[in-house]
Amino acid sequence: MSTDKRYVVSACLAGVYCRYNGEQRETPEVIRLVEQGRALPVCPEQLGGLPTPRPPLERRGDRVVDKNGNDATGEFERGAREALRLARMAGCTAAVLQARSPSCGFGRIYDGTFSGALIPGDGVFAALCREAGLELLAPEDL
Ligand code: SF4
Repeated sequence: MSTDKRYVVSACLAGVYCRYNGEQRETPEVIRLVEQGRALPVCPEQLGGLPTPRPPLERRGDRVVDKNGNDATGEFERGAREALRLARMAGCTAAVLQARSPSCGFGRIYDGTFSGALIPGDGVFAALCREAGLELLAPEDL
């Protein structure tokens, strides 16, 4: 791992209580990066204006919906843009992201049926990071 690389990281991995259920996912490798001043924690869903806790949401095609079919695509897109803007401002070239999230997951996400089934795909923020050329990493890749 290069010592000057800067990372944007899912805030829940840095111990922020920002998950849909009000919990966090503190991960030692990510905490270490933040302590070293090399990581910027962001929660795209909170940056898009969604409350915590919030109902679980999943991507369904181009939309993001909760179990009742309520649409939060606009909030997800706004939050992803804001998070990427901050990441660029901070000089981040890689993203360390929480698995399976409709925002941060990459490679595999829930399929939109709220059944626990996974499909190939990226969350809204992960897709934007990928398009922007950031390296996408899971905590275990650090
Ligand atoms: Fe964590 Fe990303 Fe979900 Fe926020 S949007 S709680 S940072 S996985």
